[in-house]
Parts: sequence; C-alpha cells; structure tokens
Amino acid sequence: MLTQIRAPFTIEQVVALNAYQRRGSFHPFTCGNFHEPTDLVATLQGWRCPRCTFTQDWAHEFMAVPACETCGEDDAPLVLTDDLRLFCGDCKDA
Ligand SMILES: [Zn+2]
Ligand SMILES: [Zn+2]
Repeated sequence: MLTQIRAPFTIEQVVALNAYQRRGSFHPFTCGNFHEPTDLVATLQGWRCPRCTFTQDWAHEFMAVPACETCGEDDAPLVLTDDLRLFCGDCKDA
C-alpha cells in the first residue's frame, strides 16, 4: 500500500507536489466536479481546484519528493525559482 501524507503540507511538500502536477508524467490529481478535468493545485492547506471549491487533504508520499518539474530528475541539485517552481540545472534555462 502506498504511504500517504496529509494536509497541512509543508512549503517543501507544496513545491514538490506542484512540480509533480506540472510534470504530468503519471496521473496528476484532477477535480472532476461538473467541468473538464482540472489539475488540482497544492497549497499549505491541501489541494484546491482552481475552478471550483473542491479540496482534498491527502497526497501520495512519492508525489512530495522534490524533483525537476520538467524531467523528473530528483538526484541532481534542484533550483527553486522566484515563482516557486522546481527545476534541475539543465531544465532551468531550457
Ligand atoms: Zn473543480
Ligand atoms: Zn530537469
């Protein structure tokens, strides 16, 4: 069984969770409430749908491992940008 983490998330978890969502290489969490499936956005209080009031208070632990939002690299030094996006050195300037 996969380990889960629960809100409130730490800022490090929020950054990693949103990088995971943007990467979209597996299944991002989506909201299916009466509109086109919309990727959820992680906040300190949990997931929120940008288009409705849907919230979710848990995530899979593996989603919160910091990794580059473009290539998924989690072993190289990561760079956090001013808008809280996470990249490896190779992807940051790509
Ligand atoms: Zn929604
Ligand atoms: Zn990368």
